[in-house]
Amino acid sequence: MRKSIPNKIKMLLQKEIFSQCPFCGNEDVDHFEIHHIDENPENSNINNLLMICPLCHSKITKGDILQKEVIEKKQFLQKEEKGASMAKIINFNSRINNSVIGDNNTINIVKKNNKTKYPEGCIGFDNNKANYISYLIDRYHKYKEWEIGKDNMNYAIFGSQLKKKFKIGQSRTIYNVPIEKFLELIQEIQRKINGTKLAKNNKSRGQLKNYESYEEYLNNQRTKAF
Ligand SMILES: [Zn+2]
Repeated sequence: MRKSIPNKIKMLLQKEIFSQCPFCGNEDVDHFEIHHIDENPENSNINNLLMICPLCHSKITKGDILQKEVIEKKQFLQKEEKGASMAKIINFNSRINNSVIGDNNTINIVKKNNKTKYPEGCIGFDNNKANYISYLIDRYHKYKEWEIGKDNMNYAIFGSQLKKKFKIGQSRTIYNVPIEKFLELIQEIQRKINGTKLAKNNKSRGQLKNYESYEEYLNNQRTKAF
């Protein structure tokens, strides 16, 4: 019998993957499974565990997803988490000419006059997170346009609803949501996208992906930048 993994660890693992399977992006999963990366079921160190959907888990077992890919995925996710907490420490507001910071594996371009009008601790202070929120909102609007037609769209409504839900005053923006609520906010918008007629339509045709996960989004941004 395998030793059961403590709930606290499960929670951290789920947070690490943004509640989406890190391989296929599926979030509509009844039971995420926990994969032991080194294939040793006794090694339940968090660094050896990755939460994934049952389908991708069986792909690993069958060798359709290689252990090398699993290791890289885990490293990427851990780096993302570290990056998110580091972003709070590095002051992106300081006046630096276009410069490159980072280690061998991650490079961040700090743009000149990259001033944000949002205070530290808000999603707006973190460019990556803010851009992903903006991407998701845009995505929602596109799906809604499909449903009701561009002429019938009121683009302000969705933002207002989100602000209300996250208790942000109407004179402020959705990017004023505290950074700790980032996950909650992206899940809310993703849920709204999944609830649109187009998403349901896609689902009935077997297409489950309606948007990039945060991880995929960051990856694609990096690819575009270089
Ligand atoms: Zn999966």
